[in-house]
Amino acid sequence: MIDLRSDTLTRPTDAMRRAMATAEVGDDVYGEDPTVARLEERVAGLFGHEAALFMPTGSMANVLAVRSVVAVGQEVLCEASAHIARAELGAHGAYTGLTMRTWIHPRGQVDLTTIESMHAPDMGPFFVPTAAISVENTHNFAGGAVLPLQDLRDLRELATGVGARIHMDGARIWNAHVATGTPLAEYGAVADVMAVCLSKGLGAPVGSLMIGSADAIAEARVWRKRMGGGMRQVGILAAAGLHALDHHVDRLAEDHTHARLLAEACGVDPDGVDTNVVVVPRPDAVEFVSAARAEGVLLSAVGPTTVRMVTHLDVSRDDTEKAAAVLGRLV
Ligand SMILES: *Cc1c(COP(=O)(O)O)cnc(C)c1O
Repeated sequence: MIDLRSDTLTRPTDAMRRAMATAEVGDDVYGEDPTVARLEERVAGLFGHEAALFMPTGSMANVLAVRSVVAVGQEVLCEASAHIARAELGAHGAYTGLTMRTWIHPRGQVDLTTIESMHAPDMGPFFVPTAAISVENTHNFAGGAVLPLQDLRDLRELATGVGARIHMDGARIWNAHVATGTPLAEYGAVADVMAVCLSKGLGAPVGSLMIGSADAIAEARVWRKRMGGGMRQVGILAAAGLHALDHHVDRLAEDHTHARLLAEACGVDPDGVDTNVVVVPRPDAVEFVSAARAEGVLLSAVGPTTVRMVTHLDVSRDDTEKAAAVLGRLV
C-alpha cells in the first residue's frame, strides 16, 4: 500500500531508531534529561526564542502556547479552519476557558483588514477582550498553504500596535521554511509563542515543542505537569527529534516535488500546491478513495467532495510515480 493519508504515518527509520536506542537519558520531570535539554535549546535557538518545551503532542503544545498569551474569559482570533479551532476537540475552551472568533480565508491566509476590524482590546464590561491572534503555517486544512512572511510581518505590526500577542501553529513550519527558503528565525520573529511538530513531515514517532520566552516556558512546564504531560526518560524520544532535525528537514523538498506530481496526475494545478498536501475536488470523494484503495493507494476523503493526499518520508519517488499512474487512470 502507498499511504498518502497523512504525514503523521511515517515510521522511524533504522538510523533514527539507533539514535533513540543510544540516547543519554535522565528523569525530565527532575530536569535531568540531557537529550531533552539539547533538543529544547536547539529548537528555541532555531526560532530565535529564549526557550522551548518538549511535549507529547502538537495539540498539547498549542493548548499551552495559546494559554500563555490568552487568559480565561479572553479571546483568540484565528482562521475558521485552523487546527486550534477545528481539530483539538475544544481543548482551548475546555482547559483554558477562552473563546475564539474566526475569519474565513479559503487558503487559510492572514486577512489583515478583517482582523483589524474584529480586534477588540478592551471595550468595557460587556465585551470579550482580544488577547491574541493565531496563525497556522503551513495551513493544514487549506491544503498545506504557506503564509507569506510579509503578511506575517504586517500582522506583527498590527498586533504590536493594538497590544495583541501572536501565536503561530507551526506544526508544519519546516515545510514552509523549505518551500520558501525563509529562515526559521524570521518566522520566529513574528510570533510571541509557537508550537512545532516533529511527528509530521520530520518523521519522528512522537514529539512537539512549545517555543517562547523563558517565563512562558517556565509556566508551561508547570501546566504540562498539571495536565499529566510530565514525562521521565523522554530523551529517547527527543533523540528522534534531534535526528530528524539533522536529516529530515532539507529532504522535505522531495515531498513537495512529489505532491506536485500527484496534483498534476489528478488534474489539479500544481502551482496551487505550496508544500506536501494536495487537495483534489471530487464530486464522488468517498467512491474515489475506495477505488484508489482497491489499487493500493490510500487517500482520505476530508468531506463529501474533497479528497486529500499528503506526501512524506515513507513515500518514495517510485511510490509517487506508481500512485500518480493509478490516480491518473481513476481521474
Ligand atoms: C497535526 C497538527 C497539530 C498537532 O497535532 P497532534 O496530533 O496533537 O500532534 C497541530 N496543528 C496542526 C496544523 C497540525 O496539522
